[in-house]
Order: sequence, then structure tokens, then C-alpha cells
Amino acid sequence: MNREVIDGIVGSSEAQGEWERRAWAIGVEVAGPNSDDVDRAARYPREAVDAMREARLLSAILPEDLGGGGASCADLVGAVRALATHCASSALVLAMHSIEAFNLARHGTSPQLREFTREVASKQLLLANANSEVGVGGDVGRSICALVTDSEPWTLEKQALAISYGEWADAVLTMARRSPEAAETDQVYVVIRKSDVTLEPLSDWDTLGLRGTCSRGYLLKAKVDPGLVFPTPFATIANDGAGQVRQLLLSAVWVGIAEGALLKAHSFVRAAARRAIGTVPPGARRVSEMAGQIQAGRSLLVTSALRLSTLLDTGDLENQGFTIALRNLKVTTSTLGVNIAKEALEVCGIMGYKRDTPYSLDRIIRDAHGGLIMVSNDRYLHDNAQLLLISKRL
Ligand SMILES: Cc1cc2nc3c(=O)[nH]c(=O)nc-3n(C[C@H](O)[C@H](O)[C@H](O)COP(=O)(O)OP(=O)(O)OC[C@H]3O[C@@H](n4cnc5c(N)ncnc54)[C@H](O)[C@@H]3O)c2cc1C
Repeated sequence: MNREVIDGIVGSSEAQGEWERRAWAIGVEVAGPNSDDVDRAARYPREAVDAMREARLLSAILPEDLGGGGASCADLVGAVRALATHCASSALVLAMHSIEAFNLARHGTSPQLREFTREVASKQLLLANANSEVGVGGDVGRSICALVTDSEPWTLEKQALAISYGEWADAVLTMARRSPEAAETDQVYVVIRKSDVTLEPLSDWDTLGLRGTCSRGYLLKAKVDPGLVFPTPFATIANDGAGQVRQLLLSAVWVGIAEGALLKAHSFVRAAARRAIGTVPPGARRVSEMAGQIQAGRSLLVTSALRLSTLLDTGDLENQGFTIALRNLKVTTSTLGVNIAKEALEVCGIMGYKRDTPYSLDRIIRDAHGGLIMVSNDRYLHDNAQLLLISKRL
């Protein structure tokens, strides 16, 4: 295990490794300074995404032979976590885009998809997903919509529950039933370029938190290029990497939010200590407890990333124990985000409660709650309960 990974587990909020350092710099210089405005206006974090393009973060996870940065999942976990410390919405854009880039690299093996993947790297294209659907919610194993292939061009219409940054994306990836006659679980995965899709808003995005993701619901109407349909069924894509990487990268956002809250509490008690040299401010003990909880969250994140890397290499991803562990990772880290944000508020007191102080926890507390429902922790706990009932071992 290399030094950066070990430091990433136990270290404080500092950047380790090339990709994490690039993301941390964007967080400090661009995403953080714009985060309150992005939140207030519920606007797309344009400056942060432009900076990600500049730093080639949008192709970090693609292999070098496709023009990418050759970063590992653990590298991306570090980058997403670092950005989330400063702006959770920007970090979610990087996480959701990178999940789709990963899917292209692992399963987009047809010549036209390979060509498209190279274009993602060379032009730093931004990828969105329209996976959840009105009527099935977050249960991505089923689709109501279907690909229509009996006339040219192939078409698809979907009532998407939410498409984050859909209006700014260069392409949307989505799943649908293979044909109108196909079973709800017989799904294909397709890439739709911006020029082939119209998005008619079905709902607004005026939310409690994570307001910069701009995740409106849309009626998606698309022409589908047969060459941009993945050769692998969606069920295989979901079980062989997509689902696992999704859990990992979104969990990195929830840990990053917790670290952002801890940073505020930490600077608050340090400022208090400077004002009364030789005393330990009342909140300092609480900060040391919070640091321990964050260390546990980071350890879980990094060890999950390492375990995923091994399973990706051995092709042993359809592994019940790992599925349970990743759902637990998501539930644990999203709960950590909410708990640490609340603890930080108690440390900073009224200075954290106000919206116009450097210690304000307003946006962080609201963003942290998004983790609980993206996807619902209850859904994951219920799914794990079912698996554990039929499992002889824990
Ligand atoms: C910030 C944000 C960005 C998003 N971006 C995107 C995006 O870009 N693309 C996209 O496709 N989707 C996106 N989504 C939608 C998201 O992925 C989920 O589909 C959505 O949050 C609803 O999923 P769900 O399973 O939690 O809820 P639903 O399936 O709608 O269920 C509603 C509620 O029912 C309960 N419930 C459901 N199933 C169970 C169960 N089995 N056991 C116990 N309780 C249950 C839970 O309380 C749950 O909250 C986004 C959501 C958020 C919050």
C-alpha cells in the first residue's frame, strides 16, 4: 500500500496524490468561493466545471490509451472528496460524470462507443445520466420507457425523475427497455448526444440543498444512434462496475461534506484558542471526537475503494458481501455527513447558525441532508435486510 493511500486514510483534510491535489486546488480557488452564490441562485457551477475541464478532471478516470488520465477509483474518490469539502454540488457533478465515463471505459467496447469515449477525453465532454424514472423512482433495475426500433431513426421517450445538470451536459446516458414488448428488467443502456435530445422540464429544482446540481425532472425525447447503444445489457453494466463505482463516488461526496463541516468547527476552536492562550476552548473536545468519526468514514471509503480495485481486476464484482458493504458505506457516510454538520453547528454556535459569517453551516447542513435521499437510505437498508435474511454469514 503506497504512502498516499495510507495518508488518505488517516490524514487530516489535505490533498494526497495528483488528482486529489488538482481537485483540492479547484475547491480552494474556484468552487469554494462560488459555492454560496451557486447555492443561493440554485445555478449550475459553471466556473468549477470549467476549471475541471482545464485540469482534465473530466477524463481522469478514462484509461490513457483512450486519451484519459488513467486514474484509479481510489484516485477519483480522493478528488471528489476534496472538491466536496468546498462545494458539494460541484463534487456531485464530478462524481456523476465520472461514473458514466467509467461505464464507457468498461462497457463501451463497440467501435463507435470507443470513438465517443476518445471524444469525451479530447473535448472534455460532460456526461449526465437519466437513470431514475417517474413511476419507478430510484429502482434502476426496471424501466417503463422503451427503445423504439421499428422505424428510422430509433427513438426514446422517458419521463426522467431527475437529470442533474442536464441542460449543460454534452451527452446524456440512460437506460430503457430493449423494445416496447420487452420485460421491464430487459434494459439497454444508450448514449444520447446533446444534438439528438430535447429536454422538456417536468419540475423545478428549488430544493433544500445540493441546489447547484440543477436536477430538474424532464420529459426526455431522443433520437437514438444504434451505434451508441451499449453492446452489454444494462443489468450486466449495473452489476459489473456501474453500481459499485456509483456507491463509492457518491459516498466520497458525503465524506467531503462532513470534512467541510469539521474544517469550520476546527477553525472556530483554533480562533477561540488564539484569543485565550493557554486554555482549551469548550468546543475543542467535540472537534477531537468529530475528527475520530471522520477518520472512520475515510477509512471505510479508502478500504472500499481498494477492495473495488481488486474486484475490478479479478472480475468478481457480483459479490453479495461487497454489495452489502457498499450499501452500508453509503448509509454510513451520508449519516456521517448529517451528524458532523450538526455537531459543527453546536461547536460554532450562533456564528455557525448565522448565514453571513465565515463559520456559517447553513449550506453544509442543507447539502448533507441530500445524501440521505440520494438514493434513500431506507431503500438500501431494506435491500440489505432481505439479503442478510438469506445469507448464512454476516
Ligand atoms: C441531488 C440529487 C441529484 C440527483 N440526480 C439524478 C440524476 O442525475 N439522474 C437520475 O437519474 N436521478 C437523479 N436523482 C434521483 C435519485 O437518484 C433517486 O432516484 C431519487 O433520490 C429517488 O430514489 P429513492 O429510491 O430514494 O426514492 P423513491 O424510489 O422515489 O422512493 C420514495 C421513498 O420511498 C421509500 N422507499 C422506497 N423504496 C423503499 C424500500 N425498498 N424500502 C424502504 N423504503 C423505501 C423511501 O423513503 C424513499 O425516500 C437525484 C437525486 C438528488 C437528491
